[in-house]
Amino acid sequence: MDKKSPVYEGKAKIVYATDDPELFVLYFKDDATAFNAKKKAVIEKKGELNAKISARIFSYLQSHGIGSHFVKALSDREFLVKKVDIIPIELVIRNIAAGSLCKRLGIEEKKAICPPLVEYYYKRDDLDDPIFSPDHIFFMELCDRETLDRIRKQALKINDLLQSFFDERGITLVDFKLEFGLDSQGNVLLADEISPDGCRLWDKETQNIMDKDRFRKDLGDLIPAYEEVYRRIEGDIS
Ligand code: ADP
Ligand code: UDP
Repeated sequence: MDKKSPVYEGKAKIVYATDDPELFVLYFKDDATAFNAKKKAVIEKKGELNAKISARIFSYLQSHGIGSHFVKALSDREFLVKKVDIIPIELVIRNIAAGSLCKRLGIEEKKAICPPLVEYYYKRDDLDDPIFSPDHIFFMELCDRETLDRIRKQALKINDLLQSFFDERGITLVDFKLEFGLDSQGNVLLADEISPDGCRLWDKETQNIMDKDRFRKDLGDLIPAYEEVYRRIEGDIS
């Protein structure tokens, strides 16, 4: 597969066109950003670990019937993916209270959330990705009711699958962000990445933080934490 020119460079990845108009290459960079890129660093090896962890998770989800853009890993930091039109909604699924939920609503950190919460954020860097409601989504015509309903159900199914996947590996899935897109046939596909950059992952025993909060909160040792996540999830898909 020949990689052609970059079509988009984001905060953590570069998207390349290929000689097939239906396929893109995603290249995972070492750039780390937080608070909508107000905080920045380059953390050597982060891109490689995110690509490997994400590939493993997409393969696991695919083996459980979750259609996604993931085709295959091309190298340590590159994926071949189906090109989609990203729906500009970031879905956040929460099992335990943390981060912006606690700040915004004064909810006690670490409070269990059952059933899980699904939140919608408008994917717009220039507006700092504001939280919004389904009514805003329909008014802004970002997607129709049937599609949002399908995406929400899919997100909750992915949460069930990932909660048990991580739990079996000694990790608590606190919360995470998902993106979906439409392929050329109009199928809704899970897209982007699922990695410690976009999830909160805590060690089940010690509650040690194994995700990007290590960078957001200046805790250090981000790479050892991501390596430990990868070590626990590599191997046979089950
Ligand atoms: P951001 O745009 O938030 O800075 P990234 O640096 O991760 O994020 O850039 C990757 C971009 O590629 C994101 O905007 C994401 O929505 C988009 N993307 C992910 N998967 C696909 C895909 N299969 N087809 C088209 N775009 C995609
Ligand atoms: N998240 C993300 N991208 C974003 C915003 C959030 O991947 O642009 C993830 C984040 O890593 C966490 C979850 O979504 O796992 C919930 O994040 P939250 O709303 O608590 O925001 P934060 O505290 O990160 O500002």
